[in-house]
Amino acid sequence: MRYIQHKSGQKLHLAFEIEGSLTHPVCGRKFDHYRASFNMPLGHACKDCMKRINNPLFNQRNFIIQNI
Ligand SMILES: [Zn+2]
Repeated sequence: MRYIQHKSGQKLHLAFEIEGSLTHPVCGRKFDHYRASFNMPLGHACKDCMKRINNPLFNQRNFIIQNI
């Protein structure tokens, strides 16, 4: 799990790191690039990302396959 920031001062989105590259954010937003990514939540996380990842129906494996 990585916390990614699109622009300075913005919320951190959650993404997965697979073989050195990152998936799109869990909330469904799509960015071409990220300003930074972190191992730890160093700021406020995106509420939509948190809601989806905490949903028991969220399937991490399927998400990664579809969003790599
Ligand atoms: Zn998000």
